[in-house]
Amino acid sequence: MARAATAIRHTHKMQGGDRNRPVLLLEWYDRNRRLLPWRALPGEPVDPYRVWLSEIMLQQTTVKTVGPYFEKFLARWPDVAAMARASLDDILRMWAGLGYYSRARNLHACAVKVLRDHGGRFPDTEEDLRALPGIGPYTAAAIAAIAFNRRTMPVDGNIERVVSRLFAVDEPLPKAKPRIHTLAATLLGPSRSGRDGKSRAGDVKTRAGRDGKSRASDVKTRAGDIAQALMDLGAAICTPKKPSCVLCPLSDDCAARARGDQETFPRKTPKKAGELRRGAAFVVRRGSEVLVRTRPAKGLLGGMTEVPTSTWLAAQDDTAALKQAPCLESAPRWRRKAGAVTHVFTHFPLELAVYTAAVARRTAAPEGMRWVPIARLNDEALPNLMRKVIAHGLGDEMEIHALATRRKQQEGPPA
Ligand code: SF4
Repeated sequence: MARAATAIRHTHKMQGGDRNRPVLLLEWYDRNRRLLPWRALPGEPVDPYRVWLSEIMLQQTTVKTVGPYFEKFLARWPDVAAMARASLDDILRMWAGLGYYSRARNLHACAVKVLRDHGGRFPDTEEDLRALPGIGPYTAAAIAAIAFNRRTMPVDGNIERVVSRLFAVDEPLPKAKPRIHTLAATLLGPSRSGRDGKSRAGDVKTRAGRDGKSRASDVKTRAGDIAQALMDLGAAICTPKKPSCVLCPLSDDCAARARGDQETFPRKTPKKAGELRRGAAFVVRRGSEVLVRTRPAKGLLGGMTEVPTSTWLAAQDDTAALKQAPCLESAPRWRRKAGAVTHVFTHFPLELAVYTAAVARRTAAPEGMRWVPIARLNDEALPNLMRKVIAHGLGDEMEIHALATRRKQQEGPPA
């Protein structure tokens, strides 16, 4: 019996496993697809706005973290026109905590452009999508494939891993990227369409059949689903550690599995760690308020709220950092909190010493700064780094205020 099964598998390979990979992927996807808030159910029309919003949020961020933000954004701005009419400040506030804040600025700029130049409808080609703010090659391919069923393969980290294992790509990343892209595209199977790269006319709105059922044999018409199948396979089965190869639809055909060294893929060139930068952050209290300012619109954490800080330099020493404390009329006594706040940006790790001070009630904020009630800090566009700094500086107090705010919200307005 076992020998017969092996023989069947062997025959399958001999008959061209390559050509069957898309079918195997779709069969697996139809049974195991993840339910995601931005993903249309089988038979449902795909909303390009949801796809775009989720793809921007998912850049450098996990599905788990994005989920609640996506729901919040969708409830507040249900379509691209609503988002285009929102203020950038509101978007930054809602984005606070999600990181990589240039995405929020681009989100707004993109919504404005889609409304102004495209009448509120996202363009449906990779080329036109790439002309929009915040949409790079990967995001354009993802939107084109998922929202418009274009025959293109958006290669994210999950797909990179699956493909590098399936074909045992020995070359390390990032050099191997072009080869992985080429190999990933072969998983779309043969094309039926013409030059426009769309799987088939009529598949833009829904990728299920007329009866609402998806068919794995429709490989030529389900390019977007094949891409999503690979994404889901990488997330659930072909995981970085201990991939569940016994459950994988491509296991008979996987070169790395045959060699037994799956976990060593994708090969990577060792990264050079960025140099540690140091600085000081100043948490100043005026009664129940704290001193903040808005960062310049361009650059790291652009447009976000922060407490005043020194410069962040590799060669920063404590005395030089403390000399950059904000100039306040009453010359406060700075107290250094024990420990430090650490944060890792893409290009460098940061360590901030936190100094606290309390000033008299009538003290004016220095130019370019303002006082904000601690109880209303949650309404500010505070990046995670600043949340950590303020929590470190204020100790339990911030938690107490956050709790009081949550309670007030739960209780609702007085009757
Ligand atoms: S067989 Fe294993 S290593 Fe190969 S693609 Fe499937 S899960 Fe990944």
